[in-house]
Amino acid sequence: MRIVVQKIPEEGQTVSLDDQTAWAQQAANEAMGGSIRGMSGQLHLQVRHEMLYVTGELCPAGTVSCHRCGQSVEVAHTLLVDLRYIGAEHKPEGSFELSTSELDMGWYDEGTLQLADVVSEVIALAVPMKILCEDAKACEQRYKAFASDDEQERPASHSGFRALKNWTR
Ligand SMILES: [Zn+2]
Repeated sequence: MRIVVQKIPEEGQTVSLDDQTAWAQQAANEAMGGSIRGMSGQLHLQVRHEMLYVTGELCPAGTVSCHRCGQSVEVAHTLLVDLRYIGAEHKPEGSFELSTSELDMGWYDEGTLQLADVVSEVIALAVPMKILCEDAKACEQRYKAFASDDEQERPASHSGFRALKNWTR
């Protein structure tokens, strides 16, 4: 879904996502791998002083693979959204000049923001966390079984899978 930044009203614009929102579901699937059934939530867009603020929350639900053993793990978490974007035309030269607070800003090109990119970014920001099975003992057994098999047969480890477990509000 494309948002034309100039058309966002002064009081802001709220985009509601439900489990039928295909582009959000697709973006979540690509960012996390696995099988995301739904991506509900709300994104509030507001422009202040040429900065576009995106806040709200996203709730991806579905199954992804355990980071360690590859078993399917149910996920249903709420991710808080708090991002800022600035038009590429205002992008400062040389990223080394950016202060720390400016580094968590994104850019949008040609006056439009792709909300699918927002979804991807929210998920990417949560990536340092890992998704693991609830049952650590069974997980360990599966992992050992895989490890003793041919390397080729181990489940592909997708970096995005690590994102979901232990997400908290
Ligand atoms: Zn596991």
